[in-house]
Amino acid sequence: MVELEQVALRKDYKLKCVFTEHCLNCQGKLWLLRINGTIKQQCMHTDCRCSFNIYRKCTHCDYVYPFEETDCKICEPEIRLLAQAEVTKEENEKGLKKLYKRYKNGDVGELEYRAAKSLHENEIISCQEQATTIRERRK
Ligand SMILES: [Zn+2]
Ligand SMILES: [Zn+2]
Repeated sequence: MVELEQVALRKDYKLKCVFTEHCLNCQGKLWLLRINGTIKQQCMHTDCRCSFNIYRKCTHCDYVYPFEETDCKICEPEIRLLAQAEVTKEENEKGLKKLYKRYKNGDVGELEYRAAKSLHENEIISCQEQATTIRERRK
């Protein structure tokens, strides 16, 4: 599992609140109302008092969510995949350096070195490809 911090670093979207401008019933002004653990907009007119849900819209894909939602269900999984790919790539690059040191010191034999090296290299290539594809798509 990739760390939340690594996911947050790559987060390229926000869920922005979408407010209603005027009361849809009487055109009255709206204020905020805290109700049942959420927040709504309510008409200030005493004889109207209509209330309206506040929504959230993803700044990247425009998907709309209820006010309580904190993550975009479309973008968040993709950002997680991106973080996973880039973190795994870094880990393999470090692994490759360590392996080379051990090989130079004579701690690892030639065959073992080559096998481990190609595993790391393949992993680096596939993670890089995955990360590039996601970054291209999210431009
Ligand atoms: Zn009203
Ligand atoms: Zn989104």
